[in-house]
Amino acid sequence: MSEMDYESRLLSADYLPEDEGDNPLRPRTLAEYVGQEKVKSNLSVYISAARLRNEPLDHVLLYGPPGLGKTTLSSIIATEMGVNFRITSGPALERPGDLAAMLTNLEQGDVLFIDEIHRLPRTVEEILYPAMEDFAIDLINGKGQGASSIHLPLPKFTLIGATTRAGQLSAPLRDRFGVICRLEMYTPEELASIVRRSAGILQIACDTDGALEIASRSRGTPRIANRLLKRVRDFAQVMNNGAITAEVAQEALDRMEIDELGLDMIDRRMLAAMIQHYGGGPVGLDTLAAMIGEESITIEDVYEPYLMQLGFIGRTPRGRVVLPAAYEHLGLKPAGNPYQQTTLDV
Ligand code: ADP
Repeated sequence: MSEMDYESRLLSADYLPEDEGDNPLRPRTLAEYVGQEKVKSNLSVYISAARLRNEPLDHVLLYGPPGLGKTTLSSIIATEMGVNFRITSGPALERPGDLAAMLTNLEQGDVLFIDEIHRLPRTVEEILYPAMEDFAIDLINGKGQGASSIHLPLPKFTLIGATTRAGQLSAPLRDRFGVICRLEMYTPEELASIVRRSAGILQIACDTDGALEIASRSRGTPRIANRLLKRVRDFAQVMNNGAITAEVAQEALDRMEIDELGLDMIDRRMLAAMIQHYGGGPVGLDTLAAMIGEESITIEDVYEPYLMQLGFIGRTPRGRVVLPAAYEHLGLKPAGNPYQQTTLDV
């Protein structure tokens, strides 16, 4: 995996250092935020209602694969509510004191955004319950006999939690969110409009077909679409005076070994290994992980959602199976595997 490990993978939906310059591309208002119509229209009702009542918005849980716009949407919610946006993450909050420090610095109505909230340590999560429910925390001061508890009221705030895996959240935490929204993968048309918007901001000449070509290879994910746009721009500069057309985008993406559905070498290698070594499956997640040298969690969060969306792999109680559409895409003949049709767990 050395030449193409997960960290440097162009199609990784996770945040990479090269996305640093992304800030100007982040939409600032709900109107600028492309797609996710159902989530947007519900949220805009909740936001208007909360504003009319002059109350903070209820706590919100956003879930879905990385790069779909959870952080962006959260910061838009804060802007639309006219409050501060404070950002942290589950792994960054190691001790209860870390969360207490964030909470006590909030102002009335502020949005506290906790990314990867499923990775919050248990002891920290327990402080969050009364904070979310009663807007107060109880801190223990000192140790042993002399220990005393301090009851600290907090300003009313909105917690927005983001997670790639809602199923891993404990029930008591999940139950404390009033609003739970699932973000969906974007259609190629929605991604094309994101690409055109980003090209405008970055002053890249990109025609409609060029944008659509990039969009259809971006795995339903805006973060990937923006990243591919920047890479294709480099090719366009050398090949076509900087102008991105469908032909330029096609050639650039082919050279990056990203195929017309947005699969890269790693996806293809994974599917091919499942077919060649396991007759198309079922293959257990851990075996799959060992096969391509990735963590199971990376496969579940990053590779699988898109391959499942395409109908290329399915989950069965005994593992993952390759579905006929994937064989067709790879130009292979499906094996007569009974699990492929009958025991899909969808
Ligand atoms: P997540 O928090 O789900 O990992 P982000 O909110 O960081 O994803 O989004 C990644 C990037 O994709 C953002 O920097 C933004 O530029 C872009 N983006 C995400 N969602 C949208 C959208 N709906 N419209 C336009 N751009 C978007």
